[in-house]
Amino acid sequence: MALIPVTTACNQRCLFCSAHGRGDSAALPGVLRQITRQAAAGAGGVILSGGETTFSAHLRRIVAFARAKGLKVELQTNALTSCYPRAAARFAALGVAMFNVNFPSHQGPVNDRITGTKDTLPLRAAGVRNLLAAGAVVRLTHIISTLNFRQLPAFVRYAAENFPGVKYIQFSYLKGMGLAMENAWLLPEYKLVSPYLVKALAFCARAGVEAVVDHIPPCFLGRFHGRHIDFIKVADGRDTALSRAEKKHLPACRTCVLRDRCFGPRVEHAAMLKGALLARPVKKLRSGGSKPHGI
Ligand code: SF4
Repeated sequence: MALIPVTTACNQRCLFCSAHGRGDSAALPGVLRQITRQAAAGAGGVILSGGETTFSAHLRRIVAFARAKGLKVELQTNALTSCYPRAAARFAALGVAMFNVNFPSHQGPVNDRITGTKDTLPLRAAGVRNLLAAGAVVRLTHIISTLNFRQLPAFVRYAAENFPGVKYIQFSYLKGMGLAMENAWLLPEYKLVSPYLVKALAFCARAGVEAVVDHIPPCFLGRFHGRHIDFIKVADGRDTALSRAEKKHLPACRTCVLRDRCFGPRVEHAAMLKGALLARPVKKLRSGGSKPHGI
């Protein structure tokens, strides 16, 4: 789905803001034109992005416009503005198909360091609870970086206990774009992340929490390779053009049994994680890589 920025305003200063330096224009006529183009191209939906999307003065009109064109709307948000129950209820009533909440940590100091804010974790948690209470469909996006990867299993425990109604958690290894390009130290080696991520996915499986993973190759997910978003897209016959454009097989991938459902590590990771292990060819398919439901 195409990403359409609807505002550049934000109440956070994330260390890896992907909008940094993108020069987005969020002017209403351009936003509506992009939506019209997506509908004409037969897209099933659009992702409204920011900045913090709920700061857009035109949000109601934009969502209604997209829905009238038959598009499903995914709304990216950091959920801080939803800490007010009435605001959350207003957002939930817009008719958004899913709120994609960026939830970087369950630990206050880590949350503040990543987002460049102070004491915002309780507000974000309240925002998620309020959206759920208002009947919204919520996905949590947990960006994996040097600052939080060791706490992945603990994050899952926290999310399962505090937000039992979320549709799923997406673990997204940090992309090397935007401000992350200037903060390359935020990208941990895949092999360091792998044991924590596998443990977190095992916990999700036990707790009945749906989970998917992106931007770290499936060969680092152990028996949970089926949780990789590219596996799911290939299995469902979904559009994989963007994944293929962002990722590239390495020579080592030639012998890997996962190769036909994996597009390799991200291209910019190969440049930023120089000397690191980027592919671990899998010789034999292991069971347990089940596909999540309804994602
Ligand atoms: S070895 Fe290559 S093809 Fe196999 S999962 Fe890893 S990145 Fe993908």
